[in-house]
Amino acid sequence: MAKILIIEDELKIARFLELELVHEGYEVMLASDGRTGLDKALKENVDLVVLDIMLPGLSGIEVCRRIRLESRVPIIMLTAKDDVTDKVAGLDMGADDYMTKPFAIEELLARIRVALNRRAYTNEKQSDIVKIGDLKLNTKSRSAYYKNDELSLTKKEYELLEYLMRNKNIALSREQLLNSVWDYEYFGDTNVVDVYIRYLRQKIDEKYGIRLISTVRGVGYMIKD
Ligand code: CA
Repeated sequence: MAKILIIEDELKIARFLELELVHEGYEVMLASDGRTGLDKALKENVDLVVLDIMLPGLSGIEVCRRIRLESRVPIIMLTAKDDVTDKVAGLDMGADDYMTKPFAIEELLARIRVALNRRAYTNEKQSDIVKIGDLKLNTKSRSAYYKNDELSLTKKEYELLEYLMRNKNIALSREQLLNSVWDYEYFGDTNVVDVYIRYLRQKIDEKYGIRLISTVRGVGYMIKD
């Protein structure tokens, strides 16, 4: 279920949109000013933003510009009737689409579907990049980066890290890691997993002072998003 953020100060319009979007099966969040909206757009992991241009605090144009500094989330702008300057400014700031008020809800719903599909397609195309926080993998070149630092990992360390990252937020048992990463049935002894986890922790957690790999007691290991 896609999560949609509506940034709109006119309560009547916001509530109406919320009702329609929830009816379509979307999860909806509301923000009634630019600053709160920007904050939610960047922190709440939303799939799409419906952004009104005329907002108190930060204008929609400014919110759009700031979102784009950090995120490629699809943005559909709502502009006042006939305000061409706003439309152009919104698109210049990286909005994906715009709707002129007043609009038919069906048209907005259609544009939302298009934007979400386009994004799903783009994500698929870019799936050779796996990212969690400041840690990034390029699975094509099989290289790992913390911020802009390239990590020096052995083949097995890289494979273990990629497997953990691709299965983020899931507690993985030692047996499971062994079977998936080492590619053969290992009889009883899963110490090798602990050894490699220790190597990864030395090269990532200890080196950068973060807690990337958690130990899940009684189970194994996990990387949380
Ligand atoms: Ca407004």
